Amino acid sequence: MQAIRQTPGTVFLAPHVLSPYVSEIFHRASCSKTEANCIASRLVGANLRGHDSHGVIRVPRYVDALQKGLVFADQTVDVITENDVMAVLDAKFGFGQSMGEQAVDVGIKKAAANGVAIIALRNSGHLGRIGDWAERAADGGLISIHMVNVKNSLLVAPFGGRDRRMSTSPFCAGIPMPPGTPVILDFATSAAAEGKALVALSGGKALPADALIAADGSLSNDPLHLYGPQSTGAIANPNLGPGALRTFGDHKGSGLNFLMEILAGALTGTGANGPLVDPDKRNVGNGMLSIYMSPAVFGSTDTFASEVRNYIDFVKSSRPAEPDGEVLVPGEVELKTMAERSRTGLPLSDKAWANIKSTGDQVGATALQ
Ligand code: NAD
Repeated sequence: MQAIRQTPGTVFLAPHVLSPYVSEIFHRASCSKTEANCIASRLVGANLRGHDSHGVIRVPRYVDALQKGLVFADQTVDVITENDVMAVLDAKFGFGQSMGEQAVDVGIKKAAANGVAIIALRNSGHLGRIGDWAERAADGGLISIHMVNVKNSLLVAPFGGRDRRMSTSPFCAGIPMPPGTPVILDFATSAAAEGKALVALSGGKALPADALIAADGSLSNDPLHLYGPQSTGAIANPNLGPGALRTFGDHKGSGLNFLMEILAGALTGTGANGPLVDPDKRNVGNGMLSIYMSPAVFGSTDTFASEVRNYIDFVKSSRPAEPDGEVLVPGEVELKTMAERSRTGLPLSDKAWANIKSTGDQVGATALQ
């Protein structure tokens, strides 16, 4: 193994070492080389930006879903309906990394031609870090808003409740800032993304103290409330715990989460969540409703860009709350993390790395032997 360095319980791997290994795993597991590279670069990209929850820790779960026939390699989206400014696309449970790219590219094409576009993507495999899609749209010069639900993944209790009725439903928006990097707001509407609970369960960063609600209604950050007791070697399953994640921001986050289920679930045709069927037989997938806007059709692109730049400067000029603190705008922390991790490597807990290696061994991946 070519680790940059190791500290007790953590290994640090360079992106250029990890990415080909992850790609080989997906290729050996039946994805084309193109799709395997796409999945690997997006997972490693999430780690690079500090979202370990949506990075390579997902490899065992993705391969398991592929082998169980719950997600499918090398799909192309079906166009269910479309006109000049909208489309409904069915991903048929293809890998979200490919399905997301295809859906965003339809949105970019329509918005480039007509100024705006709304794209409903249904039945996608896990779309990973939603910021990827806002970044892709921003690269095409477009503002974008993405609302996402996670069908068949009941992990979150509504505000005022303790039973699971919601998914982690991320919200994301991107603002292009040519020639610089775009502003990207991207977060789960749960107090923490499920993957962050998975990271905590694997010995990584702990969750906020009140991120979970236990079956008895008490607040906690113990991921076992989500996953239940763990048996050695089993892939952690968030459906088995007696408790739930909470939404962020009390009733406001719960309301936004509710809206996501309606727009990304009910409206796209993915479906809003309801009582779960047999966990081994259900496809966990994302619905995503995306809105694309060209700043040019609202007026001057240059005026918009300078307004945004001025506002960023104004926001950042607020005196820090802590003496050594800094006011950041959306997307900034990810850029800082990416700069640092490009030098120092991607941290993986020993447990997370062992699980990835075990999946690699199972499919016969050799790149790191
Ligand atoms: P998070 O709590 O880390 O919040 C991230 C957002 O907050 C970013 O926009 C970031 O720039 C901003 N931010 C962070 N620190 C900041 C600071 N100090 N000042 C100002 N802004 C700051 O994110 P999360 O809720 O843990 O979500 C992590 C990832 O999980 C996201 O990429 C999301 O898309 C993804 N997710 C995906 C799914 C799915 O089903 N595909 C489900 C849930 C979450």
